[in-house]
Amino acid sequence: MKRVLMFSEGNKEMHQLLGGKGAGLAEMTKLGLPVPKGFTITTAAYLAFEKNGNKIAQNLMQEIINTLSNMEKEVNKSFGNIKAPLLISVRSGAPVSMPGMMDTVLNIGLNDQTVEALGKLTNDERFAYDSYRRLLQMFGNVVYGIPEKKFERVLCDIKKIKNYNTDLSLTVDDLKMVIEKFKQIYLLERKRTFPQDPQEQLSAAINAVFLSWNNKRAKIYRKKNGISDKLGTAVNVQEMVFGNAGEFSGTGVIFSRSPSTGARGMYGEYLANAQGEDIVAGGRTPVALERLKRSMPKVYAKLAAMSNKLEQHYHDMQDIEFTIERGEIYLLQARAGKRTSAAAIKIAVDLVNEGIIEKEEGLLRVSPETLEQMLHPDFDQKELQKEVVLATGRPASPGAASGRVYFTAAAAKKAYEKGQEVILVRQNTAADDIEGMVVSEGLVTARGGMTSHAAVVARGLGIVAVVGVNELEIDEQKKIIRINQTVLREGEWLSADGTTGKLYVGKVRTVRATVNKEFSQFLRWAKTAAKVEIYANADTTTDLKAALNFGAEGIGLVRTEHMFFKAQRLHQLRALILAQNAKERDVPLQRLAEMQQEDFYKLYKVAKGKTVTIRLLDAPLHEFLPTTEPEIALIAAQNGRSKGYIQARIAELKETNPMMGHRGCRLAVSFPEIYEMQVEAIILAALKANAEGVRTVPHIMLPLVSLAQEMDWMRDLLDKKVNKLFEKNNVILNYKIGTMIETPRACLIADQIADKADFFSFGTNDLTQLTFGYSRDDIGAFVPEYLNKKILPDDPFQVLDTEGVGRLIKLAIAQGRKNNTALPIGVCGEVGGDPRATAFFERNNITYLSCSPYRVPLVLLRMAQEHLDKRKRDNSIDTQIKK
Ligand code: PEP
Ligand code: MG
Repeated sequence: MKRVLMFSEGNKEMHQLLGGKGAGLAEMTKLGLPVPKGFTITTAAYLAFEKNGNKIAQNLMQEIINTLSNMEKEVNKSFGNIKAPLLISVRSGAPVSMPGMMDTVLNIGLNDQTVEALGKLTNDERFAYDSYRRLLQMFGNVVYGIPEKKFERVLCDIKKIKNYNTDLSLTVDDLKMVIEKFKQIYLLERKRTFPQDPQEQLSAAINAVFLSWNNKRAKIYRKKNGISDKLGTAVNVQEMVFGNAGEFSGTGVIFSRSPSTGARGMYGEYLANAQGEDIVAGGRTPVALERLKRSMPKVYAKLAAMSNKLEQHYHDMQDIEFTIERGEIYLLQARAGKRTSAAAIKIAVDLVNEGIIEKEEGLLRVSPETLEQMLHPDFDQKELQKEVVLATGRPASPGAASGRVYFTAAAAKKAYEKGQEVILVRQNTAADDIEGMVVSEGLVTARGGMTSHAAVVARGLGIVAVVGVNELEIDEQKKIIRINQTVLREGEWLSADGTTGKLYVGKVRTVRATVNKEFSQFLRWAKTAAKVEIYANADTTTDLKAALNFGAEGIGLVRTEHMFFKAQRLHQLRALILAQNAKERDVPLQRLAEMQQEDFYKLYKVAKGKTVTIRLLDAPLHEFLPTTEPEIALIAAQNGRSKGYIQARIAELKETNPMMGHRGCRLAVSFPEIYEMQVEAIILAALKANAEGVRTVPHIMLPLVSLAQEMDWMRDLLDKKVNKLFEKNNVILNYKIGTMIETPRACLIADQIADKADFFSFGTNDLTQLTFGYSRDDIGAFVPEYLNKKILPDDPFQVLDTEGVGRLIKLAIAQGRKNNTALPIGVCGEVGGDPRATAFFERNNITYLSCSPYRVPLVLLRMAQEHLDKRKRDNSIDTQIKK
């Protein structure tokens, strides 16, 4: 097998063997673009080099020399020739792009004699000596490992002595002196001379570039980006073209569209009279392409045509390196350009609209994470580099926020009313923190996991949350927090990154992308492609509007307990909880029914006939009672009770393990009036909306059902209540009663439950909690250690445990659809957006997924991609079968 291939022998499909750069050069050669002649030493050759103890074997060197002599014939120059010397570059090029991680040597073939020949041949002695000093510099650094700064110092010194501003002022004599000094550096640093034999230069350069596959920065980069160490790198040997050959020469990088906004039109930077390394090294600042357009309009037009041709050919935005030598353009590299999230979406949409790619391809081009980034403000990356990370918690709700720290919901509210931006810092989260959360930019807690209520609510609100920051100590009395050695007082600035979980002292600037017309179009396509419907977990009209804007089909989960946290409602709910008998419950129940009815009616109006799934009260009642002395005194006064009575009621309701206690439908068995009140509110709201022409089919959902008998009992209770309402109002209305499936027992007997349920919705938060027996609010204490020690691969509350929890889900789906194949089955737990979960749910014929509004676009795209991938797989199976 050939291990050295001329560019004319390869193509773009061969990137594994030729590396990305080599395959690109081959493809451009095939397209007839002006690529300097050359060849690629393959990754297979590298692997043989590695096997051979990091030495180039004799037969490989022979193959290289033979190919080089073919190249000499093509270019009519020869290596080391003192009349027409061939000069070459040696560049790395791995199968996966690793920008700047490996090495390059330019201008190989120059020595004390060929430099003179080059001067004569080009009639430009200065250019020849400039190229020679560059070779000495790069060769010394890459091959002999002499620190770059040793060479730079010589250049700096001479410019200082001669009072020059840039390298461009160096004369031939200056350059000759620099070259002498460089040669001395070789002797001083390595006790070696610079090899005058071009072939020796070549083999040493190839050797060094091969070795750079395993330099430290390349290894770190591979580890960080999950690139295998086993791939190896190819090496490209190419005839030199010179950007440093005077005023009509130069080098630059262009993008066929803007990599930051995606705007159409070539975008880039250019440096006149320079070689490529000058741009990367940053010693000189390149200028915008406009300058090139003015100085060489024809060259600019040619470049634009090539950029267009490459984009049309590759069907994607291209990042192209070019060199201009005395007015002639050469292309040195083309690859798909890296881009911001906003640019990624705009480019995908524009390419579809321009007919360059199909819609399906456009949808596959954008990563779902990109959408998530788009929707949340992010810290300005440049500013962030200057900051020190204070501590790292769990990244519970993405985005970036800065604000002044406050320790209670009340203080947060006060500060907000004064116009301050707030970060609410709490030990953990109590139900009435919501009041503080809605006015905060972000939430930081010392305890709690990704599915703790704090995190769930924060995601729903679209505010930033970092939870479970173990090092965080809060002293509410002194109004200070301590994180390691740092102390922050109330009102001081803290910044939280909910995407990474990192905290920073002070204020860091944020940038927010806007949802533009391309983004909406993109989401519409995703919606058409996805075969699973996407709903939102939303409790307010604001959430619902955001979700609908992102393409949600409606609401898959209204957590009604969230509606009770507003002051007036909390007051009524507390009166209800504190009541001693049914009669005392009457008034607060009536008030709450009215308020809830108004809430639901507003949701129905915004939903305009789309499904709104309302879950009846789930939270344990003690969550709504006060915890501090002053609050207890206040509640006692407000309700005309003694403090002792309130304390006794709190004690009565207190549970050892409230997550597994008196919550969910168990509450309804003890206090049926609460669910009856909620159902009344739902039905009356729907009747009102219907009367106004908004066709509404109420979807009522029951939490934490484990027994078929519970389902029976509640269905009976609620159907009776609804029928009474129909009789009273002399109307009837289609309505559905479904259930959450969130306990292992419910999964095991799902067939029995399905007989009584109009739909299922998996509550994966509780199902994970109960399957593992991990309290969802306390996992911060041990799950990180499980992850560190690789006992758990992932946090099961974030990444669906398909093996265990997934097995229960599969069983429940099969059982649930045994007698009713059309049973709608959804998911409303937090794992909905996790990629492993979306694939799992698509495979298992789930009807819909429901997630927080700001996750809707991400899940929508993921489900679209999942379906397109599945279609591709099915098609390939079809073709295989046909074959
Ligand atoms: C669940 O358990 O997954 C769920 C959606 O309900 P909650 O988080 O409100 O308990
Ligand atoms: Mg639940």
